[in-house]
Amino acid sequence: MPAGTKRKTKKKFNWIINRDWCKVCGICIKMCPVENLLFQDQIVVDTGKCIGCKTCERFCPDFAIEVEEDRG
Ligand code: SF4
Ligand code: SF4
Repeated sequence: MPAGTKRKTKKKFNWIINRDWCKVCGICIKMCPVENLLFQDQIVVDTGKCIGCKTCERFCPDFAIEVEEDRG
């Protein structure tokens, strides 16, 4: 790639929750740096803004979250 050429590499991430394991404690919502997660009808949902940092995955006490890169 020539010097100075910019290339967009916007990655997408799949945010997956196992609702059988989630106890709706809200820790993931509080920890997400981009406010991607929120409560909706008393379940945790993602709003499509995930940057793939995996903070929620690491902090979920019930191992209910998995974040993976969307490889199309
Ligand atoms: S941290 Fe885990 S158990 Fe708590 S609300 Fe989030 S997904 Fe559910
Ligand atoms: S991986 Fe990071 S950005 Fe994505 S939902 Fe979890 S805490 Fe938020």
